[in-house]
Amino acid sequence: VPELPDVEGFRRSFEHHATGRTVRAVRSVDAILLRGTSAQAIGRALHGRTFQRPGRHGKVLLCPAHGPVLALHFGMTGSLEWDGQPHAHDRLVLELDRGVVAFRNMRRMGGIWLARDAGEVGRITGRLGPDWLDVSRRELDDVLDRRAALKAVLMDQTAAAGLGNLTADESLWRARIDPRRTARSLGRDERSALYRGIRRVLRDSLPLGRVPPRPTWLTGVRDDRAGRCPRCDERLRRATVGGRTTVYCPKEQR
Ligand SMILES: [Zn+2]
Repeated sequence: VPELPDVEGFRRSFEHHATGRTVRAVRSVDAILLRGTSAQAIGRALHGRTFQRPGRHGKVLLCPAHGPVLALHFGMTGSLEWDGQPHAHDRLVLELDRGVVAFRNMRRMGGIWLARDAGEVGRITGRLGPDWLDVSRRELDDVLDRRAALKAVLMDQTAAAGLGNLTADESLWRARIDPRRTARSLGRDERSALYRGIRRVLRDSLPLGRVPPRPTWLTGVRDDRAGRCPRCDERLRRATVGGRTTVYCPKEQR
């Protein structure tokens, strides 16, 4: 599932392949994924336009083209593909003056938006909280000033945007904090530990474009039903928090 590090990877690949390239054709637009726009509108807006450097807010990729801005959310299974090979799960294909980019998305969650200009981008990202890379230690206190379970708050994109199931669990495990606790209940030291955990997980994952399933990380063992904590060897436990499967170490994350 694409989270902040993955979408940042897509952003980098878009920057590398598409910046300075001009759209020659728009095809294979999947109406199910369109949000407040149409295939015709996307075609009209982007045809002949040249892409600028892309941006990202949380899990949303923003692709400005000297006026219109294409925005993509990758849902559970989305990715960008540059091989130029048509695929049954292509939901938007842009032929450029050099190369082809396909927004591929098997499960058709996420979305495709079109802003007429940069000023209209707020219509797409306005409900999102600040990007997690921009959240300061002091702003973390605002994010945590909520009654919901901590794990649910970390994944609430309106509180702060970009964390998902893997990054949230990994950060909480680093910080040795029980994901089921109320966000507001964290003490000062716990908040600092959580902040360091989030920064560390994002910093280490960003260059790789994903949360690495290293054996020394929770992510490396979480899919194993009999998985053990890489730090203390305790048998990992599963719980449902905020509607998502949460993996944690019951010994260290009290
Ligand atoms: Zn442990």
